[in-house]
This record gives sequence, structure tokens and C-alpha cells, in this order.
Amino acid sequence: MKRYKIAIVGAGPSGYFTAQAFQKAQKNNLSFSIDLIERLPTPWGLVRSGVAPDHQKVKTVSKVFEKIAKEPNFRLFANVELGKDLALKDLRDHYDAVVLATGAPKGRKICVPGENLANSFSAAEFVPWYNGHPDYADLEVDLNCDTAVIIGAGNVALDVARILSMDPQSLDSTDIALHSLKKLKSSKLRKVIVCGRRGPEHAAFTSVELRNLLKLQGVNVIIEGDQIKYAKKRLESSGELEKEVASNLAIMEVISGSSREEIGKNLEIKFLLSPIEFKGLKKIEEIVFVENEVENDRSKPSEKKSVIKCGLVITAIAYESVSYSGIFIEHGRVKNIAGHVENNLYVTGWAKRGPIGVIGTNKSDSADVVDLIIKNLKEPKISEGITALLPSGHKIIDQIAWEKINAAEVISGEISGKPRIKETDWEQLLNLGHA
Ligand code: NAP
Repeated sequence: MKRYKIAIVGAGPSGYFTAQAFQKAQKNNLSFSIDLIERLPTPWGLVRSGVAPDHQKVKTVSKVFEKIAKEPNFRLFANVELGKDLALKDLRDHYDAVVLATGAPKGRKICVPGENLANSFSAAEFVPWYNGHPDYADLEVDLNCDTAVIIGAGNVALDVARILSMDPQSLDSTDIALHSLKKLKSSKLRKVIVCGRRGPEHAAFTSVELRNLLKLQGVNVIIEGDQIKYAKKRLESSGELEKEVASNLAIMEVISGSSREEIGKNLEIKFLLSPIEFKGLKKIEEIVFVENEVENDRSKPSEKKSVIKCGLVITAIAYESVSYSGIFIEHGRVKNIAGHVENNLYVTGWAKRGPIGVIGTNKSDSADVVDLIIKNLKEPKISEGITALLPSGHKIIDQIAWEKINAAEVISGEISGKPRIKETDWEQLLNLGHA
């Protein structure tokens, strides 16, 4: 019987699905000890800090994670940061395989003048802010303005647009961070404008998420009918229409034809606009755009410029992975071939393939990486693993400590009809775990 030590770094969906694939691959003569290492004092990654609070059903996948965690060959080491508490080299020396499942936590930069003005955020800051991530609890978000602009036409842009425009009362029964709910309830926002740089036929959001906008109470969803008409004309001349594009355009047509209420907020989706400057004294006041044209299915800038006045801007233009010593980042993800980085180092999830796909995409992706690891395994190493590497006295959040945090959050939520109230203070999370 061979027993291999596996370290997985990052306790998000791809980390858990990697652990699950190892558990499923166990046979009479083959077993694995799995250590899941996480920087935060809480696991679940984007299920906790990325998935929008009005998508509670999606978060039920955490039940699968907890089942994986109950297996006897699994250990959680949260509040342990790679590169700070642990060196990657040491981890690689002590484990038969190390899998980076560290995601893509950094927002891609828009690289226009004024990007760093106050009240200009990346979705990589804004989303974890409303989701109670301890690193972003103090983000200085000001919603005392009339208009917010969201740059990008993907599902994250729609998540942010929904949260900013929906009736905040309907978020009462969710696990949204209390600090964000309070701000949303006193928000002065009347207009939320999503700006895509290409045409409606190139939108990255899915029709499911676009259709969901129509369910928002008291929100006028607006798309200019001409934009869709021109997109359809362009597509007619270019031949075959992809199913998702056809579906998106059909919903956009419904949106453009729907009547508007006098009261309520406006959520507008505009296309063919590329920001070239964020302007303001200290805080964002307006965005200058160049208007684009589509030619041969590609967008190119025209001579025309336009300005949108706004008091808040969020760039939702995709994410990038972070680097660790000895790791190369290429096109925003860890340089790898089919998940193999080098020797006993592997990568999975968004860190492997870039920020593409939904939570479930990580399951098959991680299973493929685990197959490759198993093929490459040699003789099991004799080593102590993580316990020999961490400084003595380091406060680990293990599975038992996490279950204490989890229970405390769920209990405090029950009183107010929420699935949980997230603790957003790092020290307090450690205290809850070690109570
Ligand atoms: P995304 O789907 O890649 O969309 C990014 C958007 O940003 C695109 O419209 C892109 O335009 C635009 N963009 C990129 N660089 C830009 C620039 N310099 N200036 C202006 N616009 C720019 O990324 P995402 O929205 O972050 O989502 C990441 C993944 O998570 C996706 O697979 C998404 O489906 C998934 N997700 C799913 C859900 C859900 O299912 N409910 C929720 C959230 C996220 P171009 O197309 O022109 O490059």
C-alpha cells in the first residue's frame, strides 16, 4: 500500500474538488493524505466571498465541501499563508505533490488615467467588500451619488449591477456583509450603467444572468433598441449565430421593448464604449469614453467621444492570479501545461486556466489534474508534512475550529432570518475558532 502526501493550496471550489478527486482515486494499494492550506481563517473561497448574496442556491455547494472535509484523509490548515507562513520550496520538499488552487484574486487593471481616484474600485475589491471578506471590510465605498458606472460586460459586471440597483430589503434574508447592507440601504444611487467595449453580440454575460435582471422589482432595465438592431444586421451578414449569442440578443430585445416605471432605479447596459480617462478632483466625477465601431466582427475606436458623469466606478474586466516565489504568471494565470507547472508542482482552477467558468467547471478540471498527478507519482516521501514547517504557536484554523466559526455565524444569522452573519474581522474569526 502506497500512501502519498498531497498539499493543496487554496480552499476554494477548485481546492475542494481536487481533494475530492484524490479521495475518489483511492484504491486498495493507493491512498492519499490531503492537507488543504488556506490563507484566510475561513475556507470555501469564491463560494463565500465571490458568489453574489442573492444567489444563495449556488452556495449550497458548500455542503459538498463539508462532506469532503469529513473524510478521514483530509485536514484543513486555514490562516496559513503560502510565501509568508510557509515557503513553497519547503512544501514541495515535504509533499509528494503540491497543487496550487489559489484562483485569480487580483482585478485586472484598466490602465487609464484616474484609475486610482477615490470611489473607483475593481470588482476584485468591491465584490469581496459586499461579501464580507476580512481584507475588504474597511473599503471606503461611498454610495451617496446619483450614478454608478460598471466597466465590462461579463457576469461579474451584472452581479455588481444587480446588487447596486436591487431593493436592499430583498438582501435582508441573505448572507451579505452587514456593513454593505447598511450602505446599500442608505444609497442615493438612481442609475447604474454597465458599459461593454464591444457590441451586444460580443457580451460575455450569460443569458441566464441577463434574464435574471428582468426579475428585479422596481428596476428599469434599459438597452437601446438600435444597438440590438445593428448587432443583428452585422450578424446576418456574417453567417452562423451561436446559441448563447442568439439567446442574449433575444432577451436584450425583450428588455429594449419593455415599458419603464417612473419610480425605481435605472439599470442600463450600453455597448461599444471604451473608457479612456477617469476624471475627478479626488473622487471619480466622470468617465470619458471613446465610442467604438464594429468592423469584421472586431471593435475599433471611432473619432467620437462621450462622457458619463458618475460618483462611483467599478471595473469588472476579469481577474489575474498572484505570483509566488519561483512561479511565473503568463496571461494572468500560472504558467503550466495541462496543470503541470514543474516536477511535483501542479495548478488547478482559475490559477490554471484563467478566470473562466462557473464553480462546476472546476470539478472536471481538477479531476484531470489529479489523473495527471497520479500518473507522475514516484515513491512516497517520508516526511512530517506541514506540522514540521509551521512556526510553533501559529494559530491554525483546522476543520474543528472552522466548524466552530461556521456554527457561530449560522446561529447569529438564525435570529435575524439569514443563512448566516459573516464575521468580517480576522482576529475575531480566530477567536471564534479557538473559543
Ligand atoms: P468575463 O466573463 O471575462 O468578462 C469580462 C468583461 O470585461 C468582458 O466584457 C470584457 O470585454 C471586458 N473587458 C476586459 N478588458 C477590458 C478593458 N480593458 N476595457 C473594457 N472592458 C474590458 O469576466 P468576469 O465577468 O469577471 O467573469 C469571470 C468568470 O466567472 C466568467 O466565466 C463568468 O461567467 C463567471 N461568473 C459566473 C457567474 C454566474 O454564473 N452567475 C457570476 C460571476 C462570474 P471583451 O469581451 O471585449 O474582452
